[in-house]
Amino acid sequence: PALKTKGIEKSVWVEFIQLALEAKPLNLGQGFPDFAAPNNVRKALSKVCMDAENVLLNQYTRGYGHPRLVNALSKLYTQEMGRPIDAMNEVLVTAGAYESLFVAIMGLVNPGDEVVIIEPFFDCYQPQVKMAGGVPVFVPLRPSKVGGVTSSADWKLDPAELAAAFSSKTKAIVVNTPNNPLGKVFSRAELEMIGDLCKKHNAIAIMDEVYEWMTFTGEEHVRMATLPGMWERTITIGSAGKTFSVTGWKIGWTIGPSNLLAGPKVVHQHSVYTCTTPVQEAVAIGFEEEIGRRDSPDCYFKSLPAELEGKRDLMISILQDSGLHPIVPQGGYFILADVRDIMTKVEVGGDPNEPKDFRFVKWLSRSRKLQGIPPSAFFSDEHKSIGEDYIRFCFIKEDSNLLKAGEILKKLK
Ligand code: PMP
Ligand code: GLN
Repeated sequence: PALKTKGIEKSVWVEFIQLALEAKPLNLGQGFPDFAAPNNVRKALSKVCMDAENVLLNQYTRGYGHPRLVNALSKLYTQEMGRPIDAMNEVLVTAGAYESLFVAIMGLVNPGDEVVIIEPFFDCYQPQVKMAGGVPVFVPLRPSKVGGVTSSADWKLDPAELAAAFSSKTKAIVVNTPNNPLGKVFSRAELEMIGDLCKKHNAIAIMDEVYEWMTFTGEEHVRMATLPGMWERTITIGSAGKTFSVTGWKIGWTIGPSNLLAGPKVVHQHSVYTCTTPVQEAVAIGFEEEIGRRDSPDCYFKSLPAELEGKRDLMISILQDSGLHPIVPQGGYFILADVRDIMTKVEVGGDPNEPKDFRFVKWLSRSRKLQGIPPSAFFSDEHKSIGEDYIRFCFIKEDSNLLKAGEILKKLK
């Protein structure tokens, strides 16, 4: 293997998806819905493939994004961001948000540049920064309260620690809101604090907003790109997999000023070059329909979070009934539960050099047939202990499966 792949071999997904295949647990691990995606997008895709009038929709399309999709994205984000988004120059379609993150980091970060990463972070940010030759600088969110029922809003940045992470070497910061795994929706004041540091140090904000539509009552998804003076230094990343509950479709997008997209486009054109045409066409059709009913409760961007809020609340009561302490997420479809009390009671075994939560999650999957994800995977080595007392569950699942998880958890008491 090339040197650039050394030290980043481990992946929590490779490890725990393999475990789920072997142990066959009830799977609240990897984030994907266990129920059908909306009919309109699925019908659109099957129709597009078979459309006798448009057989070319099964062939290559424009490299930076299928015209119908970039037009739909430009229309939607023009409304969302309150400024005109140029479909041909300010949108790049990628193979999932993963590729958007990868091309942003590879296309903007030079060897030796520092990239600030807020923890907990979606795990691929760190290896991507390293592959670009960059240096990750970690700043954790820390819980201001522990025990009982707390909120993801109780997890906060220390302003002095954040400010100290920025310097003349800082190229970018990566922020994920709503956050995976915590469910934190960053407040306007928090984003302003981050944005002000970007302006002060001439840094780029790479915003992973894949859960943008999934915020719960009383929460507002604030877009960094809409804050004063931030459009010109912000890259906003989204995902069709999350937006339309089709994680297997792997279409994502990057929105930003054309000068910031220049580097990412070069990486894309020499690697993936163009994404699947029929899937882009179907996602475009999906967006056109949602744009047309944006203010209706039937709009998927409203009906999905409403449905998820019910599942979140069910999950909170399940965790409480089992004597666990949930951190109530403000958005997204993951919940962290504080399991430190249970971890002291059960003999989980495993490799003592591994973080506690890794050992607990493996034990739970093998012995109790319930799969979660260990949150310390979303922290750097120096801050892993902050995540080690928790387990992450995905709750975009049928209620019957959440209740089954509850039955398993109750027996741990
Ligand atoms: N960012 C976050 C925070 C995610 O949870 C995911 C889910 N895998 C991604 C990026 C990647 O999204 P996609 O499946 O569209 O590549
Ligand atoms: N984003 C999903 C999660 O956090 C899936 C990640 C993956 O499969 N690599 O669970």
